[in-house]
Amino acid sequence: MTTANPRIAILGMHLESNAFAPISTEADFRNSCYFEGEAMLIEAAKPAPNMPAEIPGFIEVMNATGPWQPVPIIIAATEPGGPAEQGFVDATLKRMRTMLDAAGPLDAIYICNHGAMTASASEDPDGALYAMAREVAGPSLPVLSSVDLHANISRRMFDSADCILSYRTNPHVDRRERGCEAATLMRRLLAGERWEKSMIRMPIKPPSVTLLTARGAYADMITEGQRHISADLPVVSILGGFVFGDVREGGITILIYGRGEKPKALLRQLAEFAWKERQRFRIQLTPLADAIARAEQAGRSGARNVVCLADVADNPGGGGRGNTTDILEGLLAERVQSVLLGNFVDPAAAARFHAAGVGATVRVTLNENCADAFGRAVPIEATVLALSKGIVAGRRGVYAGRTVDLGLAAAVRVGGLTMVVCSRRIQCADPVFFETFGLDIGAFASLVVKSRGHFRAGIDLWYSDDRIIEVDAGGLTSPVLEQFAWKRMPRPVWPLDMDTQWQAPAADAL
Ligand SMILES: [Zn+2]
Repeated sequence: MTTANPRIAILGMHLESNAFAPISTEADFRNSCYFEGEAMLIEAAKPAPNMPAEIPGFIEVMNATGPWQPVPIIIAATEPGGPAEQGFVDATLKRMRTMLDAAGPLDAIYICNHGAMTASASEDPDGALYAMAREVAGPSLPVLSSVDLHANISRRMFDSADCILSYRTNPHVDRRERGCEAATLMRRLLAGERWEKSMIRMPIKPPSVTLLTARGAYADMITEGQRHISADLPVVSILGGFVFGDVREGGITILIYGRGEKPKALLRQLAEFAWKERQRFRIQLTPLADAIARAEQAGRSGARNVVCLADVADNPGGGGRGNTTDILEGLLAERVQSVLLGNFVDPAAAARFHAAGVGATVRVTLNENCADAFGRAVPIEATVLALSKGIVAGRRGVYAGRTVDLGLAAAVRVGGLTMVVCSRRIQCADPVFFETFGLDIGAFASLVVKSRGHFRAGIDLWYSDDRIIEVDAGGLTSPVLEQFAWKRMPRPVWPLDMDTQWQAPAADAL
């Protein structure tokens, strides 16, 4: 069964699709991460590769554990956004298939994807990718994947893969580690091992802010799942899902791979726990006015790092546009002092600041030509503090070890507010986004981040969790799920519908 020098295809498309955000285009992928063939391996070998960290991790451990031959196909990834342009998805899958067919005999396929992609005319392109991989692999060759813990796992994905391994940290600081683990599992699959698989999907679609892994019901589930890992039960993947995908197959989903009676018993146990603890998947946001008042008091106190306002409703990492203005307008109206804000996405404003130069004071209207209900046009008079072309090396949290491109960017001061304005939608999750302009988070009384949760791993040196408040403001990623026009999501579902019922299925139905 074992091959001396196994040839393993590597491929994937990473996108977390928010049904309410504008379409993610081919250009979005090509400008973010798109590597074909050898170019993938060259990029993966760089010190700060611009690609999902799972792939360099996978390659590292495959290299360390024996001979193999990577067969790089395509890795495409972009920042979370709307559904992917259907034509690009179709063309990419077709190109992948052509390359797989041309690659000669393979021994296995590793899929590195996010798992919550939708396309403009299809609900489950990830499922299509997995099914294609299975078709190429035939019934016997291993198909293994790694996914984000926000993946919406479809039945098609589950059926097509021998094993789906998900992240276990949120903020996602274990991406490389999961790539390494995928390689270890791949070695076992190549040696002929196979596991029985079982899956359960709960009628729980948690707002993303309730899926942190440092504490909370979801954290408890992951800890409990990992406590049972053994040689006979190698993988427990617990997905929180991505509610904004608005798909039929989503929500909390538990996948277990193993042998014997234990996997199904554990599956039931974890599902029953999730249901029993469902109250903990409800949100606790701070009203906007209270949040502004906290920042205002912090500014007057003379103290540093008093409170961090998380603008969870405008998280580019969940499809948000990075340009909403509820918090910004509140800060300006109350003349809040010593507050730092990042990243406000406005390419036109960033270009104006670059044209004006450091030290200049300019009148600019934010969102001038792209205002909408959440991101209103806000006239400001700003002094340009520093400028950057926007290429930075992530240093802390989810971007550590990755090259990130903010696009043309500037740091400006508007009264007591200092803000980073950039051109590309990147969630504010790494202190380097300020430091690259010479700004020190530690020097301000308060901080505003456009991020849902990943910022926590980047700013922990200054703001412990008890100093962070999640603000109830408007935006495409607001955890107030009642305000969205859901179309596909099956109802009732917790916590949107408080009358949701659930019963554990019989063991033989798993
Ligand atoms: Zn995620």
